[in-house]
Amino acid sequence: MEIFDVAIVGGGPAGSVCAAFCSRAGLGTLVLEREDFPREKVCGDCLNPSCWPVLERLGLVAPVRDLPHSKLDSVEFIAIGGRNVIVDLPSGDDCELSVKRSLFDALLLKRAQELGAHVREETTVTALSHDGNWKIETASGENFSARILVGADGRNSTVARLCNLLPRPARERVALQAHIPLPRNFGRRVILQFLPEGYSGQAPVNTTELNLCLVGTPPTISRLRRWAEEHFEITADQSWRTITPLTRSSIPCAHENLFFIGDAARVVEPFTGEGIYYAMRSAELAATAISKVIRGGDRQSALHEFTRDCGEMYRGRLSINRLARSAVLWPRVGSLFVRAAQIQPAIIGLLTRKIVSREL
Ligand SMILES: Cc1cc2nc3c(=O)[nH]c(=O)nc-3n(C[C@H](O)[C@H](O)[C@H](O)COP(=O)(O)OP(=O)(O)OC[C@H]3O[C@@H](n4cnc5c(N)ncnc54)[C@H](O)[C@@H]3O)c2cc1C
Repeated sequence: MEIFDVAIVGGGPAGSVCAAFCSRAGLGTLVLEREDFPREKVCGDCLNPSCWPVLERLGLVAPVRDLPHSKLDSVEFIAIGGRNVIVDLPSGDDCELSVKRSLFDALLLKRAQELGAHVREETTVTALSHDGNWKIETASGENFSARILVGADGRNSTVARLCNLLPRPARERVALQAHIPLPRNFGRRVILQFLPEGYSGQAPVNTTELNLCLVGTPPTISRLRRWAEEHFEITADQSWRTITPLTRSSIPCAHENLFFIGDAARVVEPFTGEGIYYAMRSAELAATAISKVIRGGDRQSALHEFTRDCGEMYRGRLSINRLARSAVLWPRVGSLFVRAAQIQPAIIGLLTRKIVSREL
């Protein structure tokens, strides 16, 4: 059996970007992905401007801009009761845009393949063992072998579960997502709307479709869905994608021969729309560390640097993420914040700029 240098479980933004950088560094790279791409995923579909530098390093800026998308020029916060505050988003090359995950994720996975990664779709990892190398078993009965394993398989990571590292999920909230016809005159704004039962995120993803997300608790989510059906005049047979948990503890990202990246390592509050950036950047950092380990560099210092750089990536941003989490857990508090921002808009402008500023 061929022994790959690195096997990556999950072909979302984290897995594909890690595979692309590992392949470009000359490593024998395998991606095992459960789904058949292109596939949609529960997400607001918004790309934070921090994503651009990573995409640039993969030669993907123009291909992403060539996908059907919407350039977003403002974010509108709406309080319970309807009061609102609008904050401008960066323009030009640093803009935030929205693109359907089916298109974006397929483009990243294709790039990994072009750079030499072996990609197996419709391949679900079901069991793992380690005897110097990793033996990876899949639902189809096919087995694979690799020196290093990467868990890039999202918030309910199978790799973490099989390694007894998955924290107990707090099933406190649930998200629903759908693409619905774009309401007339919606414009190029993202709407973050507090509702008594939770919140809704809305963003156009092209000239005809709106990404609609609803976040609530298990008892309130059906009321939120009814609100959306009425508000957007959508029928009760609209199909929704769903995901939970929205929060869980993080997992240490570096272990002996085992790395976790993206949502598999740390789940962030979706309200601020940064998860794809963290997935891609942690993937790039992991690829650097993996290359060093495979090429015989000092393993401990590679793992240490990766852990440090991941910590650096979140530093200063997690506090805003926690603030956002409090606002959405208690939508009435979030609404008060929006009303305060009507009087003093500088605060919400500052927080928004911090979230949507371009990083390294
Ligand atoms: C409601 C909501 C809205 C959001 N909105 C935004 C937003 O607007 N912008 C933003 O940046 N982020 C947003 N996020 C967060 C974002 O969706 C995630 O952070 C991002 O998808 C993480 O990427 P990933 O590659 O780590 O994981 P994922 O995208 O989850 O990819 C994991 C992949 O692993 C595969 N997989 C899982 N198990 C296995 C297995 N056993 N074997 C093989 N393959 C497997 C899955 O099929 C999947 O393709 C939102 C999240 C939610 C819940």
